[in-house]
Amino acid sequence: MLMRSKNTQNNLPRVNKRRLLQTPRGMKDILPEDFLYYDYLLQTAKKTLEFYNFRRCEPPILEKADLYNKGIGSNTDIVEKEMYTLKTKEEGEFLALRPEYTAGIVRAYVENGMFNWPQPVKLYSFGPVFRHEKPQAGRYRQFYQLNIESLGDSSPALDAEIILAAKVFLENLGFNHNELEISINSIGCHKCRPIYIRALTKYYQQHLKDICTDCKKRLKTNPLRILDCKNAKCKNVKEKAPNFLDFLCDDCRNHFKNVLDILDSLGISYVLDKTLVRGLDYYTRTVFEIKKKDKAGDLALAGGGRYDYLVKLLGGLDRPAVGVAFGVERIVDELKLMKKKLEYPKPKVFLIQIGDAAKKQAFILLEKLRKANISVESNLEKDNIKSQIKNADRVGALYSLILGQQEVLDGMIIIKDMVSGLQETIPFDRIIDELKKHLKETI
Ligand SMILES: [Zn+2]
Ligand SMILES: [Zn+2]
Repeated sequence: MLMRSKNTQNNLPRVNKRRLLQTPRGMKDILPEDFLYYDYLLQTAKKTLEFYNFRRCEPPILEKADLYNKGIGSNTDIVEKEMYTLKTKEEGEFLALRPEYTAGIVRAYVENGMFNWPQPVKLYSFGPVFRHEKPQAGRYRQFYQLNIESLGDSSPALDAEIILAAKVFLENLGFNHNELEISINSIGCHKCRPIYIRALTKYYQQHLKDICTDCKKRLKTNPLRILDCKNAKCKNVKEKAPNFLDFLCDDCRNHFKNVLDILDSLGISYVLDKTLVRGLDYYTRTVFEIKKKDKAGDLALAGGGRYDYLVKLLGGLDRPAVGVAFGVERIVDELKLMKKKLEYPKPKVFLIQIGDAAKKQAFILLEKLRKANISVESNLEKDNIKSQIKNADRVGALYSLILGQQEVLDGMIIIKDMVSGLQETIPFDRIIDELKKHLKETI
């Protein structure tokens, strides 16, 4: 009788192998051809922002969950519904994958004593952030943000500088300045905001019949966010809602006027948008968005504002700050639509080898060529000359080098012009000089 041995593997829970090979819901791989765009964006950011004296700073991807509860506000969608949290095994610490950059940057500013540095401290960051949102087309649960912050100073000049740097960055990426629109608003300070919120709440309470259930909820938890509502039902009520600009205290009004004056003097046009409040609790005074105007609907590329109380709220000194975040995936999609052509560098030379002795030499020659700064590719796993020539064509090499058994014995190598098909045999040790000469002629 055939006995079935009990395989220990059979006791393990069954794993659906197909599902094992899928990214988690709402996440995606960035493939090489796509990463070119991310890299282009980062390189352009680096060039633009470092020229404006911003310096790169990267907080960890994981922070204490409380940093966001306190910093972003526990009544916001981000914290309430969208944060990825975990408990560490040994310490039982509650951590969160960063849903945005600013709270982490402020923590880093305080923890590293940056308030003692010359102010403002101008920083930028680039990396993934995580939000457990409902997956939809073009929206991912892990996405990239470029972030710019200016910490430690309340001057309206810094609001204007952030807006300017953000706009120049987008233009340097290839966006036309005519198609970019800046909308701007002020949402006041601790002094004037409660007065506005009272007026807003009173107004909405008179229109309860005409607003959606979300707005009714917001009216109790976070009335300012009511202006964010995109529901068509609330449109009419929203349009006639009190305007924050009529409620600003003298300091806030002056600040806002100064920001606009500087933008005017820089020739930066903007649209005042009284419904712009942004989704995060920490904003004060200036809030803004940069959109790409489009017939099919405007596309927000960046959003930001002042957050004058956040440093203090997170346990630091009273240090005002201002910043902006860019949605990288959206910009990448736009760059593709613009047909921005990006390519990896192509090898100029392809090395073909036939036989064991040639293969051995080929390894050494490849590194020699690379050390001489000649970009070269090869297929050392192949022996067939035809397929190697095909590959040389495919990668777009200008020259191929052919090293066969006979050439190794004679101390020679064949150099072949891939365009004309002409070839000559030259001494092996002259190959670098010859290639350099040929490449110079082609360039
Ligand atoms: Zn105020
Ligand atoms: Zn609504």
